[in-house]
Amino acid sequence: MAPQVSSLFRAMQRPELRLETGVLTSERVKRTWRERKQMFICLSVGSLALQVLVADSDIFAHPLAEPWAELLRSVQQKGGYSHVIASSTSFGKNLLPRAAALLDVSPVTDVTAISEPRVFVRPIYAGNALCTVRYTGESPCMMSIRSTSFSPATESMSETKVAPITQVDLSFLSEASSRKSSWVNLTSQDTERPDLANARVVVTGGRGLKSAENFKLLEQLAEKLGAAVGATRAAVDAGYVPNELQVGQTGKIVAPEVYIAFGVSGAIQHLAGMRDSKYIVAVNKDADAPIFQVADYGIVGDLFQVLEELLEKIPDKK
Ligand SMILES: Cc1cc2nc3c(=O)[nH]c(=O)nc-3n(C[C@H](O)[C@H](O)[C@H](O)COP(=O)(O)OP(=O)(O)OC[C@H]3O[C@@H](n4cnc5c(N)ncnc54)[C@H](O)[C@@H]3O)c2cc1C
Repeated sequence: MAPQVSSLFRAMQRPELRLETGVLTSERVKRTWRERKQMFICLSVGSLALQVLVADSDIFAHPLAEPWAELLRSVQQKGGYSHVIASSTSFGKNLLPRAAALLDVSPVTDVTAISEPRVFVRPIYAGNALCTVRYTGESPCMMSIRSTSFSPATESMSETKVAPITQVDLSFLSEASSRKSSWVNLTSQDTERPDLANARVVVTGGRGLKSAENFKLLEQLAEKLGAAVGATRAAVDAGYVPNELQVGQTGKIVAPEVYIAFGVSGAIQHLAGMRDSKYIVAVNKDADAPIFQVADYGIVGDLFQVLEELLEKIPDKK
């Protein structure tokens, strides 16, 4: 099970909440849809996933938010579910507000903890403060969760029951739904490295790396550590690496076991995307760089020297 899906299950499986339903979306599931031209929606009743809905149509072969939002509206209107939950991935963030608008409710975004069925904790001011909010609107209560804040469901939780599979009635789909947007192509980096959002170790480079060429040193280190490569927005804006590697408020939110930052100053917008990492290691030549305020381990020095030594001393991954 993909980690984001697994975290969604964990968010739903809170016995004290008795959530009646949730909607599942994830990269892995999307890949499956692409292959099978199907869309899956998992519904959880009580504390277990009790039903899998399958919407089998070419329209759902790709993650296009417009037809998806219509599908969610239709499923919700038929099922009358209490909660709809998506993960805060780019697709989740695209889909949820559209579906919420169609259902005339306000979504609660970026939930990091669920206190009661309608009381949630979410970060504000780029993660500098946590806000507890109560949802007082009509049903369904729609929310996106930060999957990094919910540990993945354990094996026993995910294997508790075999869910029945039901086909969704797609008669609501009009020709207009398929015309609003169309899938052109997907470009992604062909890499064997772990996905940035779910990696156990992330090595990130900032403007201090100074060039795209120097980022290759980070890639070599990532290769040895089995890590994903991340970057600051300054590094992305300078064209050193593609946008998909950006970590932070306007990039990806990560919470790996180890986050190693090279030449990153530690601006609040960057910290917003990585401060929940278990161990933060920073390498910066400026001892006053704000990154050291959140770092568990810090090296004040030239990152190129440190990288060279690490590359020399860490053996290749077998
Ligand atoms: C609305 C908004 C949203 C934003 N969203 C994001 C976001 O999602 N993610 C993000 O990262 N930023 C984001 N930013 C930008 C953010 O404010 C910072 O500008 C950015 O994070 C700085 O990146 P940096 O640390 O790489 O660069 P800098 O701040 O320029 O820091 C470079 C660091 O490298 C160190 N350095 C230089 N050379 C060496 C060397 N040889 N050895 C060791 N250290 C060295 C320097 O001492 C310095 O601390 C956002 C800004 C705004 C306004």
